[in-house]
Amino acid sequence: MDTQHVLDGVRQVSEGFAADRKERQRRRHLDPADFASLAEAGCLLTGVSESRGGLWRNVRESTRSICEVLRVLAQGDSSVALVSSMHPAVLSFWLATPEVGPEYKKGWDDQIEQLAQSALDGCWWGTITSEPGSGGDIAKTKTAAAPDGDRYRISGAKHFGSGSGVTSYMITTALPEGEPAPDLFFMDVRDVPWDGSNGMKLIAEWDGQGMAATQSHAMQFEQFPATRCAWPGHLQSIVLAAGPYVACSFASVIVGIVQAAMITARQQLRPRHEQLRPFEQVEWSRAEMEVWLIEQAFEGMLRAVEEDSNALWAVLRGKTAIAELAESVLGRMAKVIGGGTFNRSSPFAFWYEDVRALGFLRPPWGLAFDQMFALSAIHRPE
Ligand SMILES: Cc1cc2nc3c(=O)[nH]c(=O)nc-3n(C[C@H](O)[C@H](O)[C@H](O)COP(=O)(O)OP(=O)(O)OC[C@H]3O[C@@H](n4cnc5c(N)ncnc54)[C@H](O)[C@@H]3O)c2cc1C
Repeated sequence: MDTQHVLDGVRQVSEGFAADRKERQRRRHLDPADFASLAEAGCLLTGVSESRGGLWRNVRESTRSICEVLRVLAQGDSSVALVSSMHPAVLSFWLATPEVGPEYKKGWDDQIEQLAQSALDGCWWGTITSEPGSGGDIAKTKTAAAPDGDRYRISGAKHFGSGSGVTSYMITTALPEGEPAPDLFFMDVRDVPWDGSNGMKLIAEWDGQGMAATQSHAMQFEQFPATRCAWPGHLQSIVLAAGPYVACSFASVIVGIVQAAMITARQQLRPRHEQLRPFEQVEWSRAEMEVWLIEQAFEGMLRAVEEDSNALWAVLRGKTAIAELAESVLGRMAKVIGGGTFNRSSPFAFWYEDVRALGFLRPPWGLAFDQMFALSAIHRPE
């Protein structure tokens, strides 16, 4: 299957989702059947390298095409798109780092093979890395990883595990015993009960105002078995290598939602465009302007990745600007269309909360601004 084939299939699935929007936006849970349709359309191949029959070549060449798949999906169902975006985002931690030190090469290649095979076998990957009190900073993990043979046992509190119950594997971070820095681990969560009997306990079911059906649950892990990534001690390099792709992928979900909202708003306003009051005309024009800016920012992010021109700084600014503009534009659309958009029978109330939730995705606001200022050209000579 090539990228175009997958995109066509996902577009078809997404159009089906859009046709059921009213019912879907009220959902508070994921439906495994949606993920079976997406797997059939080839969505799982977004996290598999081309050499193993997937779509992934490298960050520079694959970001645009995979983000296009996610953008199209987000036009149909925000929650399903976010959960699906986690699969390639997580696997990009391995895929974006093809070369490691010679002593780790075999283990790393074997691990990538194992991960690819799991996706080819129909497994979805997700992440339950965030920890209460960490502010989205994975370096602040308090979760412990105790060695157990050639594996580890993880103990700690984690939250925001989007896709819990649908994913087969989840990545996380933890502090290996006796080591100064956290590292990357993955856990096989297939059929694991959530009552704590096997070391994984559901602490709080996701009850989000936005992204309501993502099952982004909070879990307590006690001595839960985990496999350490096969390039130990290099979490920072792994995260930085995948960073430009991951930021674009989260942005693509926001862009897809905003575009679906714009299309719907135009349809609703067309019959009464001549009756719009001056304030509404101005708000509408601003909304059009902001959607254009969102699309330009997204294109700029993709181009920076393709040209590798200070990509991390570009995508950080792009993702944060898109998140800010998306909140603003949904607010403007609501003011023009009217108070009915506040009603849960209107798609706009849901989309507004969805884009608001997406603004908190890693890096969440505080951390994003810390990082933007740290990367700012103000620190460099002319
Ligand atoms: C819709 C959505 C989906 C997401 N999906 C994922 C995902 O799939 N995987 C993932 O890893 N992350 C996910 N995230 C998390 C996201 O990437 C950020 O890490 C997260 O939003 C950061 O949260 P925060 O800024 O509120 O800080 P956090 O520190 O993560 O959370 C703050 C909350 O923690 C509690 N808290 C604060 N301080 C303490 C303390 N000292 N001790 C105990 N509790 C404390 C408080 O209740 C506070 O509200 C998702 C977030 C959202 C909104």
